[in-house]
Amino acid sequence: MNSYSRSEPTLSGAGYVEFDTDVLVLGGGPAGTWAALSAAERGARVILADKGFCGTSGATAAAGTGVWFVDPDAAKREAAMAGREAMGGYLQDRRWMARVLDRTYRNSHRIAEWGYPYPVDTAGNRQLTSLQGPEYMRLMRKRVKQAGVSILDHSPALELLVDEAGAVAGAVGIRRQRQDNWLVRARAVVMATGGCAFLSKTLGSNVLTGDGYLMAAELGAEFTSMEFSNAYAISPAYGTVTKTLLYGWATFTYEDGSVVPGAASKGGRSAIARALMQGPVYAQLDKADASTREAMRASQPNFFLPYDRTGIDPFTQRFPVTLRLEGTVRGTGGLKITDDSCATSVTGLYAAGDAATRELICGGFTGGGSHNAAWAMSSGSWAGAGAADHALRSGSQRTSSRAGTVGLRDRPGRAFSPAVLTKAVQEEAFPYDINYFRAADRLLGSLQRLDALWREVSDAGAADRAAILRARESAAMLATVRWMYRSALARTESRGMHRREDFPRQDERQRHYITTGGLDDVWTATRPKADAVVSEAAE
Ligand SMILES: Cc1cc2nc3c(=O)[nH]c(=O)nc-3n(C[C@H](O)[C@H](O)[C@H](O)COP(=O)(O)OP(=O)(O)OC[C@H]3O[C@@H](n4cnc5c(N)ncnc54)[C@H](O)[C@@H]3O)c2cc1C
Repeated sequence: MNSYSRSEPTLSGAGYVEFDTDVLVLGGGPAGTWAALSAAERGARVILADKGFCGTSGATAAAGTGVWFVDPDAAKREAAMAGREAMGGYLQDRRWMARVLDRTYRNSHRIAEWGYPYPVDTAGNRQLTSLQGPEYMRLMRKRVKQAGVSILDHSPALELLVDEAGAVAGAVGIRRQRQDNWLVRARAVVMATGGCAFLSKTLGSNVLTGDGYLMAAELGAEFTSMEFSNAYAISPAYGTVTKTLLYGWATFTYEDGSVVPGAASKGGRSAIARALMQGPVYAQLDKADASTREAMRASQPNFFLPYDRTGIDPFTQRFPVTLRLEGTVRGTGGLKITDDSCATSVTGLYAAGDAATRELICGGFTGGGSHNAAWAMSSGSWAGAGAADHALRSGSQRTSSRAGTVGLRDRPGRAFSPAVLTKAVQEEAFPYDINYFRAADRLLGSLQRLDALWREVSDAGAADRAAILRARESAAMLATVRWMYRSALARTESRGMHRREDFPRQDERQRHYITTGGLDDVWTATRPKADAVVSEAAE
């Protein structure tokens, strides 16, 4: 931990609103809302704080999501589990896959009971395999409120509170619309702040800057599978919609109109990335016939918004595309889970959704949808219940102090610019030749620059109160990319989405997990796969 004294005031000169509760949930996407609901149903008092407006913020609220929903038929379940094991590099854990399928089945039926308008097939059966983000999250907000949870909207958490024993004891944040601060003392905290997409403008992800990772790391939390963090999605070069399904009907071309070889095939993203390193790449959805075009517009209306706005007909005209980094949002790295209740390595701190690792059900690859949504609702339910049980078992609140470090101090004259730091981090995290196609020399070069940046900012502060949120976000992204690249260096093979040009093959001796952590000194370690969480289910 840094030299910053925890008793030093960090948000001086501004008022606080203080709360005392059993469970504090940070983040109000699907993982956070399921956690809040589940904790409240366990009899705990719950507060949920979101950076944006809970119900509209985060990666799910902006999109439609496929859900890994499979009927409890043994053959279907077996096929669902076996189907993606090779893609994930055989790092999944069958026991966790089975329990996520069970929990997703139960939760999806609850969503149906609550009145979500699932489509019905011609035989009259409800189709529970996808959810429209806006409707789903509006319903989740309603259920959370009905369960008695207090919601703090537009209230990003900045740092955690810690007690003398090192257990989490709440958090501190700001209320952006009221220009003041909140402090919640809690007996347990669920970290559900989503993943880190590095402000790449990918759909719904600009609130996802890895804040929860930084806060947890300041209490010594461990991370795992952070090398599987280089998900890139196709998007129009001038837009943010990263829904990629419809590109299955596209032809990709270079500037001169010639076809990019391999771009339209399975794994075509690598061909697009290589082509983008040489110059612009264009797409045209010319493989869709008239009825398919109609179905595409009906099923994914927001996909077409950027084209409609700019007067382009994507079926008959080509348009420039790019690959936007989605980092850990559609990657699988995150906080390490230590038991079936989604506890982390910090006492009292639980993790859910993209803030947590998804290695247990996805291994090293998530790719096209479904698993993340299933994980968010399942891990959210377990983390909420686990946090409630922990809180209700704990005695009265103990003395606590602030655990935050970088970017929080008022240090006029010793402040860093969040915008400059963000740009510097993006220059290391975005390039395809560092992050998409990896090699030791390029990763090491990047890490040298990133470590130097960390040394510069870790002892600096925010210029003033208004800059604190952005300062923390930029520092969180810097910390995240350092865990990613240290882990990427430690995995000397290609597996899942982690591609090493200097080690192009999967090496069966490396069928293990890589754990990482630390802020000033980032460390990595390997864990055998058999170590994956073995405690009894806390349903
Ligand atoms: C374009 C796109 C399409 C996708 N499609 C699919 C799909 O089809 N199927 C699928 O399974 N998955 C899909 N995913 C992934 C899926 O959206 C995520 O896995 C899911 O949203 C994770 O839920 P979450 O609650 O963990 O995070 P999010 O939904 O991202 O929510 C995180 C919440 O935390 C809040 N937050 C962040 N920082 C703070 C802070 N400091 N303090 C307080 N609150 C904070 C945010 O405001 C946000 O509300 C898609 C992702 C993208 C980007």
